[in-house]
Amino acid sequence: MSAQEKHIEQEQQPFNADVARLLDIVAHALYTDHDVFLRELISNSADACDRLRYDAIANPELISDNPDFRICVYKDTTTRTLTLVDNGIGMSHDELADNLGTIAKSGTAALMEQMKDAKGDDKLKLIGQFGVGFYASYMVASKIQVVSRKAGSDKIWLWESDGKSGFSIREPNEIEIARLDGGRGTAITLDIKDEACEFLLDQKITDTVKEYSDHISVSIFLGAPSIVAKDKDAKAINSASALWMKPKSDITDEDYINFYKHLTSNIDEPVMTSHWKSEGTIEFTSLLYVPMMRPWDLFDPSRKNSVKLYVRRIFITDNMDTLMYPWLRFVRGIIDSEDLPLNISRETLQYNLTIEKIKNAVARRILGDLDKLSRNDEAGFAAFWNQFGPALKEGLYDAPNHQAAILKVCRFYSSHDDGEKFTTLEEYVERMKDGQEDIYYISGDNVQSIKNSPQIEGLKSRGLEVLFFTDTVDDFWLQSVLDYKGKPFKSITKGDIDLEKFESDKQDEEKPEENNDEINDFITKMQDILDGKIHNIRKSSRLTNSPVCLVAPEEGVDMHMEKVLKINQKYQGSTKPVLEINADHELIKKLAAACSKGDNIDDAAYLLLDQAKIIQGSPIDDMAEFTRRMSEFMQKAV
Ligand code: ADP
Ligand code: MG
Repeated sequence: MSAQEKHIEQEQQPFNADVARLLDIVAHALYTDHDVFLRELISNSADACDRLRYDAIANPELISDNPDFRICVYKDTTTRTLTLVDNGIGMSHDELADNLGTIAKSGTAALMEQMKDAKGDDKLKLIGQFGVGFYASYMVASKIQVVSRKAGSDKIWLWESDGKSGFSIREPNEIEIARLDGGRGTAITLDIKDEACEFLLDQKITDTVKEYSDHISVSIFLGAPSIVAKDKDAKAINSASALWMKPKSDITDEDYINFYKHLTSNIDEPVMTSHWKSEGTIEFTSLLYVPMMRPWDLFDPSRKNSVKLYVRRIFITDNMDTLMYPWLRFVRGIIDSEDLPLNISRETLQYNLTIEKIKNAVARRILGDLDKLSRNDEAGFAAFWNQFGPALKEGLYDAPNHQAAILKVCRFYSSHDDGEKFTTLEEYVERMKDGQEDIYYISGDNVQSIKNSPQIEGLKSRGLEVLFFTDTVDDFWLQSVLDYKGKPFKSITKGDIDLEKFESDKQDEEKPEENNDEINDFITKMQDILDGKIHNIRKSSRLTNSPVCLVAPEEGVDMHMEKVLKINQKYQGSTKPVLEINADHELIKKLAAACSKGDNIDDAAYLLLDQAKIIQGSPIDDMAEFTRRMSEFMQKAV
């Protein structure tokens, strides 16, 4: 047989059934993003280089012709082909048939079997459990040729397929052999489909490589290997070094900041940088940053996580929502997994169990680092908290398993410093008075308006501290976090609170007991007048300086919460408030006396209610009536 005849001799083989089905899935656009084929090919080439690099430790002669590993990518517009060449480990005849003609991974066949019957989401989950890898190239190629020489062998083979019925393997001719880099490794040539012709543009190739493979450790060059080899000034497209893989001691603060800027295009500098390697049951490295400034869309519901996911230095995606908890959506940076399969679509990777584990490990780490930051850099932490506290607090109801760690870093304004300084829950608990079982709080729109609320007076006078909750989210997490270390959160604007057991600084003032009946009659009368407008009226221990205040009934919705719910239009009903009166207040005493003499107190009753509403920031029902009553009262007084 002549050499010429030998070239033409082909063995045609059908694809194994799994591959045929897989190719069918690929053809029906498993990946929404076609660019990924290049990432897959580069990832395979980088793997091949890594493996030969390892083998060469034992057999240095394997790379004695050229110890430098590289990947070259180039287009040929006359043949409309894109070729990717590596000088890695290569494949033998049988390996070409096995690796590119079957799906070697165990269990895949069974999975494909299940897939036949699965639908929708289930199908996606199943696909997520195996890879598409090499076959992704059939999204952009009508035919693929793979020329390869296994390291250590002198046989070169060519695998070829249109990705439909099957593949053939034959010996390549001189021109085909010349595609290899110094006769070593693998050259993959794609006949680019018309609809993917953008991959015949150098710019598109460069951009895609940069986007997906900037930090893989093998250099990638644009151009045929023979040309790249001759050009001493040839520069790699990718930076070929992964910052996060370097030991911390080799990385300067400036490196970290530059990388942050490169990643985020932000102008600020991070308040916190968290670089660590997890080496437990899951192995990954993460380099994460907390920015100084809040992004404009932090509270936009469509905002996505933007932490980048890498798998063994290969970029996978920067918008996988399942990678980070939504309440950590302000965190930027990268996570590089050693365990995840590389060659599965982004869409399906998010269902992977490893992602779930990474998400939790990262959350624990970030919360731990924030706790450290709060102790080491109070000002830095305060800046963080002002920007991102409200987002973080969403985790209190979103992730019960992280609740304790989140509560630990939570900061609140409180009556302790008159709303000037942050306090932790721990500090609050330490300051609790003997006999105090509850953590008292009041919620409102801002510290200014709530720190002077009448409802606080009685607590303040008894030295009881009240936390000020001013973020909308506070009203929501309070529904699921009922206590802190066994101390229940208690709204001071809802239900009854018994403060009598705590000594008040106003207590020494002698309390005349005799007008008790008068007051009780007054309350009954008020109740008649305001019937339908309020839940009930009662004497208050919350008040010292104000005559009246409103609170929500025990079984009702907290008043600020109700306001918030109404704004968000999630709530229609309206809880009738309890009107509490200060029986020691001069005005109340005088009105009670007048009432007992038979005076009409209708207007006074309404004015008291409206006054309580005003101080609360709630609208009053009838402005015209209020003004009329007010004027009449003033007339009488003048
Ligand atoms: P995976 O990379 O997950 O194994 P792929 O479909 O991407 O799946 O590749 C299948 C196999 O083909 C690889 O495992 C590898 O053995 C082989 N292979 C692919 N590309 C190359 C290459 N450039 N050099 C050597 N072997 C390769
Ligand atoms: Mg692969």
